[in-house]
Amino acid sequence: METSSKVCQSCSESRASVIESSDVPTQPYHLCVPCHERLLSSSLRPIEWYNLAVIHSPMNFWLHDDFYEEDGEATQPEEDVIVTEKDLAPSLEDVQEDVEALIDFAITRWSLEEDVLDALKNHHKTKILESIKPRFIQTETYEIKSRMLDIARDVLGSEASEWIRELWIHDDGELLIDLSEATASCLPASEGLPLVFRKLEALTDKEKNACVASCLYRFRSPIVLPWIEKNCRTFHGNWGLLAAVSYPTWEMMKSWLNKGRPLSLVALDSMEACANEGRHLIIAKYKPQILETVVSEIEPVIKGYLQQDSVPRVKNKSEWILDDKDIIFTSNTRIC
Ligand SMILES: [Zn+2]
Repeated sequence: METSSKVCQSCSESRASVIESSDVPTQPYHLCVPCHERLLSSSLRPIEWYNLAVIHSPMNFWLHDDFYEEDGEATQPEEDVIVTEKDLAPSLEDVQEDVEALIDFAITRWSLEEDVLDALKNHHKTKILESIKPRFIQTETYEIKSRMLDIARDVLGSEASEWIRELWIHDDGELLIDLSEATASCLPASEGLPLVFRKLEALTDKEKNACVASCLYRFRSPIVLPWIEKNCRTFHGNWGLLAAVSYPTWEMMKSWLNKGRPLSLVALDSMEACANEGRHLIIAKYKPQILETVVSEIEPVIKGYLQQDSVPRVKNKSEWILDDKDIIFTSNTRIC
């Protein structure tokens, strides 16, 4: 524990005389003695939790949801927490007219919900961009950087294109999923996809399997399909999920079944995923189908593959696909 000469980050009133380590070693808490005691006993008042969450994110160990509700109420305090009117954390209504206060509020949310997004959309995009860029640079907290990219993704779109381009130049890979998601919203797919592809291709197969769907599904681009064909070297369910939302055609599914593993397993997963809204949120959201299907070919092709590869996984998937073929397949072509 060291001493500090700043104002307390928690109460914003007293001089900070204590430095307490946080999850980010270079950005510790600067606190007065009473706030430090309340931090360590999980007994912060709502406004104190809020002020700290703006700086350190509500995911920081001392502030996370085991200890506090999203309005800053302590859920398992070791000391009595006395809360008067002035100790309450601001509500969305309190902050929605002021863009800086609203972005502070967005940082303190566990996830970015529609009500906060709608409030942000009422402000000029240039003002929001001017606020989130320096916040991104000044923090080393991953969750806050990620939230700035969420705002670019869900609110700014092409307004943030130059910023997203700059971030790719300096990207160290730590924010790959968040940056890829923002790229899908902020840059044209023809420009954004090659940036994401290049990063993914540098990963190990295991790393690629873990993040490929998260990085690419938002593009919803058929350009992703030939890339999958070239880059999927070991099977993982994420590849099938990604292919399902990237406008796959029946011709491609047949081709992948013919190529054998791992692509044949990706094709089966992709077909089966189209009927599995309950298991995958993105399937429920997009309701994808296998396009341009020659319906009379489905059964002979699936059963033909099963004869070559009859392990239980293939057998089960094949049965599910044939049972749900009316949901999975369409003779339609892509409707843009
Ligand atoms: Zn204090």
